[in-house]
Formats: sequence, structure tokens, C-alpha cells
Amino acid sequence: MGLLDGKVTIITGAGNGLGAAYAKLFGKEGAKVLVNDLGGARDGSGGSIGAAQAVVDEIRAAGGEAIANGDDVSTMEGGQSIFDQAMAEWGRVDILINNAGILRDETFHKGSEANWDAVIKVHLKGTYCVTKPVWQWMRDNGGGVVVNTTSTSGLIGNFGQTNYGAAKAGIAGLTRNLAIEGRKYGIRVWGMSPGALTRMTSDLPRYREMTESGEDFPVTGQPDTIAQAMLYMCSDLSGDQTGKFMHVARQGVAELKVMRSK
Ligand code: ADP
Repeated sequence: MGLLDGKVTIITGAGNGLGAAYAKLFGKEGAKVLVNDLGGARDGSGGSIGAAQAVVDEIRAAGGEAIANGDDVSTMEGGQSIFDQAMAEWGRVDILINNAGILRDETFHKGSEANWDAVIKVHLKGTYCVTKPVWQWMRDNGGGVVVNTTSTSGLIGNFGQTNYGAAKAGIAGLTRNLAIEGRKYGIRVWGMSPGALTRMTSDLPRYREMTESGEDFPVTGQPDTIAQAMLYMCSDLSGDQTGKFMHVARQGVAELKVMRSK
């Protein structure tokens, strides 16, 4: 018996990092997982769905159920196609985790409109595009759980992340408002602010600098720890809680060095 037995779960950007950690844990807990990823290109430029397929293979090898999807979350067609694939395979959607993302860090005064548009498009618009068809289905079919990925950059701020912080603050607002609209229909909506040490974050110049100076920094838990928090939010463990944000804790320089050396 798993905590998510039979729960159909869509996870975007799940070919790497946090999304992959969520997908593997959810597979172990009995969920049927649609693993979406555009292709694993760090700049979001796309590619094959090899990264998503590798995660699917791992879930299946461990006895779980999963399918790969390579659609772009940042278009309505992509969002619809992700939903359609889950429906064609399993006929329902119980959980949606909006996790896909890109980074285009730059200071505001040097920053480009192209990077601004790209970051807002993948994060904020992407969350909209995938949630839209899923939301309608959940509304008509007794509810579900939607988790959107926010960030301390959107809530507190971070150097060099005006585009990302703006997108994440937008997602936080979307999350709060969706939670209010979803309550009546049994749709629970959470914000996850992971602060995880992943491929995406470990390379950031400010973390490199901090590692070199030996300074500790407020980045947070390992992907596996964050996946446990995600499991709590998406399973019955969290009861009827909605409209809340989970901030998962802290990590040191030593772990960052180990991670980067891999
Ligand atoms: P983190 O683990 O911090 O979330 P990663 O870069 O490891 O960061 O994961 C983000 C994932 O989102 C990547 O695998 C990337 O390919 C994926 N991604 C980026 N843009 C899109 C998109 N438009 N549609 C689907 N997936 C995307």
C-alpha cells in the first residue's frame, strides 16, 4: 500500500532535478505518473524527451507505472496535449505538479526583454497553460491537488533574479487565488518554495562565490527531502489544507561541493 495508490499525477519538467525526485517517489508510492520534460536543455531550448523517458524507465524498473511526455508547457497546445495524454492513458487526473522552469539570471540594468519574456513564459504562462485543462476536469470530477512552484526569489528577492522573481511572485498570486476558487470543488492548491540544490541552482554564480569563500547560504534541502514534503502536500496526509506555501529547509556548502563534483 502506497500513500498515492492509483493517483494519476502529472509532473512537468520532471526529467531532471526536483521534478525527477518527485516522479520517482510518487511512483514508489503507487501513483501513475506522467513525466513531462521538454528535453532537459538548461536554457529551455528543447530537444528530445530522453530525460523524461529515463525517469519513466527508472520508475518502471522499480515496479511503478509511468509514461513520458515531451510537450512544451508554455503553450496552450502543450498544456492540452499533456492533459490529453494522461486522460488517454488513465482516464483521470488527481494531482498536478507545475515544476518546469528555466533560469536566465542577469541584473535588471543589463537584462534583456528576450530573457524577461522567456522566463515569464515558461514559469508563469506555463503554469497557466497546463493548469487550465486539468482545472476544468478536476472541477467537474470531484477535485484534486495542484502544486505550483514558487521561490524565495518571488517572496523575498534574490540578486540577479528580477525576471525569475517576477514570474515566481506571479505564480504565488495565482496559487492563492486558485485556492480560493478551488475550495468549493475540492481542489486543493499549494505553493512549493523548494530552494533545493539541483543542477539548476548549483551553478548560479552567487552560489559558486559563496562556496569559494566558505560562506554558508540559505539554499535548502536535498531533492529527496523536498520530494517528501511534496508527498505530504499531495497525499491525504495533509487533509483538507489548501492555499498554503511550503518552504523546505537548509543546506550547506559541503553538499554543494559534492553535488558540483558529480
Ligand atoms: P530544478 O531541479 O531546479 O527544477 P532543472 O533544470 O533540473 O531544475 O529542471 C527543470 C526542468 O524543466 C528541466 O528538465 C527542463 O528541461 C524543463 N523545462 C524547461 N522548460 C520547459 C518547457 N517549456 N516545457 C517542459 N519542460 C521544460
